[in-house]
Amino acid sequence: MLGEIDFFVSKIYASKRMVAFTGAGISVESGIPSFRGESGIWDKYDSRNLDIEYFYSNPDKAWSVIKELFYDNFGKAKPNIAHKVLGLMQQKGFLKSIITQNIDNLHQEGGALIVHEFHGNSKYLVCTKCGLRRYISEVNIDFLPVLCEKCNSLLKPDFVFFGEGIPREAYEKSFNDARNADLLLVVGSTGEVMPAALIPSEAKRNGAFIVEINPQPSNFTNSVTDLFIKGKAGEVLLNVAKQMGLMLENI
Ligand code: NAD
Ligand code: ZN
Repeated sequence: MLGEIDFFVSKIYASKRMVAFTGAGISVESGIPSFRGESGIWDKYDSRNLDIEYFYSNPDKAWSVIKELFYDNFGKAKPNIAHKVLGLMQQKGFLKSIITQNIDNLHQEGGALIVHEFHGNSKYLVCTKCGLRRYISEVNIDFLPVLCEKCNSLLKPDFVFFGEGIPREAYEKSFNDARNADLLLVVGSTGEVMPAALIPSEAKRNGAFIVEINPQPSNFTNSVTDLFIKGKAGEVLLNVAKQMGLMLENI
């Protein structure tokens, strides 16, 4: 792994517009399982609770699963070393932006400054009628379904449900940054979720070098990845930070 890390670090130093693209795998070491694969979320919960039509027709049932999963269980998760190293890289000017498929807010909590949230953010709730947006700690979610304080309509977590489109601004900024990147770091994504999975190939088509960190090969590994570093996000990125002499006391 060390030769690969040296090579990756030399690419970081040579890069002018490095961008990161992250998936559920980067938050696994924070205790949030991925959706797919071994002990994935869909082994235990029914994914239709995140289907937008089901949510509107069964708000009580959907909300009780959403509450247990995203707020009681994962709500207390903290950023891990991988989030912090990327945050520090951004603060030091090595990383232009982070495009994430995750909805857990952990990049921001780990110090990241520019994050394009391709699938929204579970820490915010939005009114399905008047658009009022509130941070989770400002809302009482003990009574379900959660209703808007202003117009009494249904509140919905501000992440993208199955059957919903990608938020326009995040979509445009993500593809724009991917097209302009000279180095794209892919961390912890299977590459199965569309249209997010198109981002690495869009970067590559426009000349970016693609580095991937994952304990398992993904859909990207044999198609777009130029340098595959097999391993857990936290372990690999800690080695990268050490190699770059980043201020580890901040991590
Ligand atoms: P995925 O669930 O399809 O795949 C996870 C990937 O992470 C796999 O390739 C796996 O090998 C890898 N992985 C596992 N442990 C890892 C580790 N320690 N370090 C690095 N990689 C590791 O993830 P996906 O492609 O992001 O797609 C799932 C979708 O579900 C995403 O769009 C995302 O929005 C959503 N999701 C989000 C969260 C979250 O916010 N934390 C959690 C689960 C799912
Ligand atoms: Zn409202």
